[in-house]
Amino acid sequence: MSDTIEKMVIVGTGPAGLTAAIYGARSGLSPTVYAGIQPGGQLTTTTEVENFPGFSQGILGPKLMEEMTEQAKRVGSKIINEAVTSVETVNSPSGAVKKLWTSDGGSILAHTVILCTGATAKTLGLDRETELMGHGVSTCATCDGFFYRKKHVVVVGGGDSAMEEALFLANLAEKVVLIHRRALFRASHIMLERAKKHPNIEMMVPYTVCKLLEKDGALIGVTTQHSESQEQRDLPIDGLFYAIGHTPNSQIFRPWVDTDDQGYVIVHDYVKTKTSGVFVAGDLCDPHFRQAITAAGLGCRAAMTAIRYLDERNL
Ligand code: NAP
Repeated sequence: MSDTIEKMVIVGTGPAGLTAAIYGARSGLSPTVYAGIQPGGQLTTTTEVENFPGFSQGILGPKLMEEMTEQAKRVGSKIINEAVTSVETVNSPSGAVKKLWTSDGGSILAHTVILCTGATAKTLGLDRETELMGHGVSTCATCDGFFYRKKHVVVVGGGDSAMEEALFLANLAEKVVLIHRRALFRASHIMLERAKKHPNIEMMVPYTVCKLLEKDGALIGVTTQHSESQEQRDLPIDGLFYAIGHTPNSQIFRPWVDTDDQGYVIVHDYVKTKTSGVFVAGDLCDPHFRQAITAAGLGCRAAMTAIRYLDERNL
C-alpha cells in the first residue's frame, strides 16, 4: 500500500460510477475507479438502449458503457480492473481516512469514496439463461419491453415489481402471462388489482418456470410446472421477464453505511451516507427507478457533493 491519500476513489463502473468519474476528473481530482466484478454494470447484459438521451437511433448497452468508460478515461480517471473486497476507516496524520482493500491483495487510501456497485437482478438460474439474456430473456421491462410490441411475453414474480413490469408490458405486448409460484401475492392490493383487471394480462398461479426453450440462439418458449401437482407444460412465448427482486451489492460497505431490510444503502441529501466522506449513487441506494439515466444523475450529484466536501476541508 502506498501512503498517498487519493482525493476520490469510486467503486463501480456502471452509469453512476462513470458519471461520478467524469465529474471528478474534470475537477482535477484524477479519481481512481475500481471496475468491479462486472465492468460496465448491468447495461453490459442488455442489447439495444433506446431511452438514454443523446442517441437518436438507440445504442447497444455494451457500446454505451464502452463510450462512458472512454470518456471517463479521456478526462483523467484511472480505471482499474479489480474489485474492492473490504473497507475500513483508519487514522492517518491528516485525520481519519478511508481504506479500501482490493482483489489483487492491495489497498488504497482516500479522502472521499463514492460507492456505485449497483444491484444485481435475481434470476432463476435456469440452463442457457445467461446466453439468452438479451435474446428473449430480460430483467428490465422498461429497458427491453419496446422490442416485444404485439408479442407474447411472460413475467415471473408476485411482488410490486412484477405487477409494474406486467402493466408496462401489457401496453406494448399482445399478451402478458404473469407466472407466480404461490397463489398468494406479495404485491400491494392496488397494484395486484390493476394487473388483474388489465385485459392483456393473464395470471398463472401457482406455477414456476422450470425450463427455457430455445431455437437458433433465441428464446421461443418456456416449460412451466404447477407448484403442487408438478405437472409440466410448454408455453410458446417471445419474451421472458424476471421480476423476482434485486440484490443491492452493499454487503462489503457495512462498516460505512446503514442499509434497509433489503440491503439498499440509506441516504440523506440524496447521496450522503452515515459516514462523512462516503457517498453513494445509482441502484445501490435506489430501489424505485433503477434506470441508467437516474443512476448517471445520482453519480453527478455524488461527485459534486464530494468535490464540495474536499473544498470545504481544503483537502
Ligand atoms: P419482492 O417484493 O421481494 O417480490 C419478489 C417476488 O418474486 C415475490 O413474489 C417472490 O415470491 C418472487 N420470487 C423470489 N424469488 C423467486 C424464485 N426463485 N422463483 C420464483 N419467484 C420468486 O421484490 P420486488 O417486487 O422487486 O419489490 C421490491 C420492493 O420495491 C418492495 O418493497 C416493493 O413494494 C417495492 N416496489 C414498489 C413499487 C411501486 O410501489 N410502484 C414498484 C416496484 C417495487 P414469494 O412471494 O413466493 O416470495
